[in-house]
Amino acid sequence: MSETIHTRMLILGSGPAGLSAAIYGARAGLSPIVVQGMQPGGQLTITTDVENYPGFRDVIQGPWLMEEMQAQAEHVGTRMIFDQIASVDLSARPFRLVGDGGTVYTGDTLVIATGAQAKWLGVEGESALGGKGVSACATCDGFFYRGKKVVVIGGGNTAVEEALYLTNHSQDVTLVHRRDSLRAEKILQDRLFAHPNIKILWNKAVDRFVEGEGMAGLVGVDLVDTVTGEKSHESADGAFVAIGHAPATELFKGHLPVDNDGYLVVEKGTSKTSVPGVFACGDVTDKVYRQAVTAAGMGCMAALDAERFLAHEDFAASQKVDA
Ligand code: NDP
Repeated sequence: MSETIHTRMLILGSGPAGLSAAIYGARAGLSPIVVQGMQPGGQLTITTDVENYPGFRDVIQGPWLMEEMQAQAEHVGTRMIFDQIASVDLSARPFRLVGDGGTVYTGDTLVIATGAQAKWLGVEGESALGGKGVSACATCDGFFYRGKKVVVIGGGNTAVEEALYLTNHSQDVTLVHRRDSLRAEKILQDRLFAHPNIKILWNKAVDRFVEGEGMAGLVGVDLVDTVTGEKSHESADGAFVAIGHAPATELFKGHLPVDNDGYLVVEKGTSKTSVPGVFACGDVTDKVYRQAVTAAGMGCMAALDAERFLAHEDFAASQKVDA
């Protein structure tokens, strides 16, 4: 028979959101269990330099930061389990989740922190140059391209925001978009078009990210015109792929509401989903900020919301007993 593990607070995901929820949950005496998922540590484990996480004067490494967060979570009483959840049942409490190997996890509360993945183009050079010129986060890596030439690929809100953000560091920003119109909000488009340091290349798709001689990092992108098929090259020191994110919400389809882009919907200003006792935090519910520090903050909110939910329930139960 498969093993059943019960906890007051079951957390899915081990990025900054899940581990911050764990730290707060453990310190509240809820003995949380974190089911780590496919990529323990989350997106930060595939980045290198982190310079914007508060508390560190020097540049730190993403994987190191996640190891420290996990060590802190364990130190205060979190149990980490390496497993991947295959199915969920949120119709009754405790919530019941089943891992890939058949282990059953039951939780009085559930904190969903399964994160999101940046979408990539899948063209030559992209993964080899990841962290060496190719990035999916201008807020994280833009600073490293001060005074250099950068390109942003995409035509949605993220791409336009990233292009505008990059002008804080670079005087030479090029937006590359595969069509001749953007899907970003008009106000962002107006700001983009008015910016003297941003050039737009319409109807262009990236064919290849080009590495310099002697593994010198990115030196540019080979482009192909999506209308004429004509090939061209755009030199660049940094390339930011901004073609959208995929939140990891597959498991919850039919169980919890998601918005048009697939993100879990929470009550404004809280981490509460539509199912009492189920909370969501971090990139799985946030398509706007997507930062380690905002995910960590949202993890804290989820743990506090879960703790209050349980305290309220315990109090109500004690009143019943007294009556
Ligand atoms: P979107 O899905 O809105 O846009 C993705 C862009 O990338 C599109 O322009 C698309 O082109 C392009 N694209 C997709 N795949 C490829 C590909 N293979 N090759 C080349 N180009 C490609 O993603 P965003 O991340 O911009 O936004 C997601 C959601 O988050 C939206 O709802 C957005 O409004 C929201 N958001 C809100 C923000 C805010 O409120 N401040 C900030 C950022 C995002 P095409 O147009 O041709 O399809």
